[in-house]
Amino acid sequence: MARAAGIDLGTTNSVIAAWEGGEASVIPNAEGSRTTPSVVAFLETGERLVGQLARRQAILNPKGTIYSVKRFIGRRFEEVEEEAKQVTYDVVPDEHGNARIKVRDKLYAPEEISALILRKLADDAGRNLGERVTEAVITVPAYFNDAQRTATRDAGKIAGLEVLRIINEPTAAALAYGLDKRQHETVLVFDLGGGTFDVSVLDVGDGVVEVRATAGDTHLGGDDFDRRIVDHLAEQFQKENGIDLRNDPQALQRLYEAAERAKIELSSVTQTQVNLPFITADASGPKHLTMTLMRSTFEQLTADLVERTMGPVRQAMSDAKVGPDDIDEVILVGGSTRIPAVQALVRRLTGGKDPNMTVNPDEVVAVGAAIQAGVLKGDVSDVLLLDVTPLSLGVETQGGLMTRIVERNTTIPVRRSETFSTAADNQPAVDVVVLQGERERAADNRVLGRFQLTNIRPAPRGEPQIEVITDIDANGILNVTARDKDTGAEQGITISESTNLDQSDVERMVREAEQNRSSDQQLREEVDARNQLDSLAYQVQRRLDELGDAAPSHERSRAEMLVADARQAVADQAPTDRVRELTDELQQVLAGLNAVSAGGGGSADASVGAGAGAGGATGGDDDVIDAEFDRS
Ligand code: ADP
Ligand code: MG
Repeated sequence: MARAAGIDLGTTNSVIAAWEGGEASVIPNAEGSRTTPSVVAFLETGERLVGQLARRQAILNPKGTIYSVKRFIGRRFEEVEEEAKQVTYDVVPDEHGNARIKVRDKLYAPEEISALILRKLADDAGRNLGERVTEAVITVPAYFNDAQRTATRDAGKIAGLEVLRIINEPTAAALAYGLDKRQHETVLVFDLGGGTFDVSVLDVGDGVVEVRATAGDTHLGGDDFDRRIVDHLAEQFQKENGIDLRNDPQALQRLYEAAERAKIELSSVTQTQVNLPFITADASGPKHLTMTLMRSTFEQLTADLVERTMGPVRQAMSDAKVGPDDIDEVILVGGSTRIPAVQALVRRLTGGKDPNMTVNPDEVVAVGAAIQAGVLKGDVSDVLLLDVTPLSLGVETQGGLMTRIVERNTTIPVRRSETFSTAADNQPAVDVVVLQGERERAADNRVLGRFQLTNIRPAPRGEPQIEVITDIDANGILNVTARDKDTGAEQGITISESTNLDQSDVERMVREAEQNRSSDQQLREEVDARNQLDSLAYQVQRRLDELGDAAPSHERSRAEMLVADARQAVADQAPTDRVRELTDELQQVLAGLNAVSAGGGGSADASVGAGAGAGGATGGDDDVIDAEFDRS
């Protein structure tokens, strides 16, 4: 038997959970711990350690111990140059400029390091469950971009796992509390981990979880609290013994371990003892460190760190346009939220609300991921987690309009297609401009990407059938493909960050669309009217060409005059009244011409709507592609 699991691949610690006996439970690792340090060590001997054992020798093996690799996954070296200076191991660019980890002349991709962590988690869990773990839902921070998500998925693949889905950490936390089943709630997720702080505001309800805003501090977490204790202990020790323990790696490693232990104890008791026998020695003999640490001292040492969470919380609330009273639930995530002073601050910032922490803060993300894995495997039926597209997606069409293919708030994954056509006879190529936004005018929306479909079979305008397919997968990765149904010629792009837009951008774009709705609507009507007239003029001309001498001369000259007027009106962007007038007249003329000889092949289909793409192969702005599209 094989199992699906949920994995929280954290910066500091990772956790694996699986669906067992009707609920999601954390599976302990081989050492018996429920969390596994996200650390991999390469030893001189060629041996590799993962987890607690790797962490325990970190300070003694600074170049060969890889921690916080999540900071580098899916990143270009230039994006993380500053970050690279803050770790003890070497981070270098590869020949493509991607961030790589260098250990003794060997380069590792961050994905490979992460894969080693995932492999240990899955192997240990499998042993514990008595069934191999072969599939997983893996979580990532809400702000991760497409490249970071893809790299995380790849890490899963390298570890031999089938990655069922990548989901956002705060979303997983909300899921662990079953909040998705509520009606409509605003949830604040406060996540203070080992080295990072993330705060998210979510909209949950009716099976949909939407991240409305995120903020944080990528360099604030439990490690900073540990360092404060280490410095405090070392300074005290130096005062008494004249020796700075921080200069001795062996002693420093022990000091860090003791500091973290003390910190953790101070979350439940108000005073603790730090005991480090034989921590160092001098001429007078071995020295021991024995100190009492009070919670109040710890709180004084770390008050500014706690305070630093306030800015991002306020930022996220203001981006999401909510005040403390609008927040229905607060969820604490991350081991460091067990610190009493942190909890007190969260309560204060959210208007005195008692935060949810019945699910262990350091396990809640993995539990949510396991629930999602259960949903995807059909083991859980009463929860349904869906993400939605934050904004509409479409392409630019004739006259500079945006034609929507996927509407805003459509649940993903989704695949939609529309068929478009060309605007000019024998047009060999179309430019497909992929847009995101709610405005009618293409230029008022965000351009996500563009590509050209070439090798279109030479044909009269409107005849080629160009299918544009938009495909958004469950991870929010968007693929747009255009295909000439006739020749099979195909082109496409994969677009990053189509769904992990900054929430404030989404809000702004939606708001602007609302404000401009009537003028946008008018613009669309005007452009549609002109497009229709343009198409009609084309059809009349084609009918005239078909009929040749069979067209009565009176009708012919009237038709030719109207076609010329129509083209002029389109080119001049004539007022809509004039455009409608000409459209009516041309329609009559076309009906007349169609009556001339029954069975004349000219199609009178005037249902021309929008066109695909902007400029054709000639690139001129006015050489717009037209399109007849069948909404099938
Ligand atoms: P991440 O998400 O960054 O991988 P975690 O959520 O596992 O990390 O948080 C790890 C941090 O939480 C560490 O700094 C650890 O010392 C701290 N931590 C764990 N338990 C406690 C506790 N009871 N009290 C205070 N800090 C804790
Ligand atoms: Mg975490």
